[in-house]
Amino acid sequence: MVSEKMYQLGSKRSTIRELFEYGKKRAQEVGKENVYDFSIGNPTVPSPACVKESIMEILDTVDSSTIHGYTSAQGDLETRAAIATYLNNTYDLNVKADNFYMTCGAAASLCISIKALTETKEDEFVVIAPFFPEYRVFIEAQGATFKMVPADTKAFQINFEALEEAINIHTKAIIINSPNNPSGTIYSEETIKQLASLLDRKSDEYGHAIVLLSDEPYREIAYDDVVVPYVTRYYKNTIVCYSYSKSLSLPGERIGYILVPDEVENSKAVYAAVCGAGRALGYVCAPSLFQKVIAKCVGQTGDIDLYKKNRDLLYENLTAMGYECVKPQGAFYLFMKAMEEDSVAFCEKAKACDLLLVAADDFGCPGYVRISYCVEEDMIRRSFKAFEKLASIYKA
Ligand code: PLP
Repeated sequence: MVSEKMYQLGSKRSTIRELFEYGKKRAQEVGKENVYDFSIGNPTVPSPACVKESIMEILDTVDSSTIHGYTSAQGDLETRAAIATYLNNTYDLNVKADNFYMTCGAAASLCISIKALTETKEDEFVVIAPFFPEYRVFIEAQGATFKMVPADTKAFQINFEALEEAINIHTKAIIINSPNNPSGTIYSEETIKQLASLLDRKSDEYGHAIVLLSDEPYREIAYDDVVVPYVTRYYKNTIVCYSYSKSLSLPGERIGYILVPDEVENSKAVYAAVCGAGRALGYVCAPSLFQKVIAKCVGQTGDIDLYKKNRDLLYENLTAMGYECVKPQGAFYLFMKAMEEDSVAFCEKAKACDLLLVAADDFGCPGYVRISYCVEEDMIRRSFKAFEKLASIYKA
């Protein structure tokens, strides 16, 4: 009666959601202050003032049918032009309004882009561990094949040997995400250059362009002046999937875009396929009010320093306790080695201390856990005694 695949997807929550729901239930039993929930990536930094100011101004000055009405399927021209101008000025690009398709966040951007590129079930999308677990759902839901490249656990850049082995005649695209969820690392310029050169070589070898899908919801969340290279400048067949969920702390408003630059091979056809996939998936006309807000707030962010403060607090204290952590350069996740091989068992022991950490098995990186630090600083401080207790189990 229903699709078995969709039934399976809908009947089981993701590990992260499961843990988040458990945390809410547990807080009712023992008090919110006694549960240390590091499970979910919901931004805690307030949206910058321009968001509220723009909403008020738009409500006061624009007529209701324009605010709440349909825009063009691909989004308001004014919004797309504002984004193009911002990117051209910031990254020295040469993009135009017509290169953009406004969508409902990075999730929709990815689903649309994957659908636009998929011709047959044999088409493969390669993801690099550790990766956002929904990639597998998005790829398989569009009828394509998911392929994973194991992590480079030394630097959490790219395991190029394994990537080269994974690419074949069926490879449609590689999905990258930097700053990365869950490792917090940023792909260096050297990594991006090496990736571009590999993809150029492989595209020539197989006689078709291998696309790079750059999933960038954390682009602006980078610390200590580490540069996040703008990928289209290094590899011409790049499609950018962007979201304002994290930079403007607007995850519930579902707003972002797809950028298909002119340099992409057959860019007009690719853009048309993006419009077609958006239409087929029902993602036409991204939320209208928030498109107008973006036109006014493009380039702004919440106070990223608050995340940096949390990063420093957690990283310094956890490493001092003997935990082995990857120092985050961006995003708001700390990637930590579990103190035993089985990260699920480690997270169960953490849970018994009311410490909610996500085992990285679903991120393609068993043996590690993800700690999401977009939380109140006070909760981090209160959690240290639980982290001490957890570490002590392994020191006994
Ligand atoms: N990609 C990555 C790497 C993410 O971490 C997330 C959300 O956390 C998404 C995509 C989806 O973002 P959005 O809320 O914009 O759909």
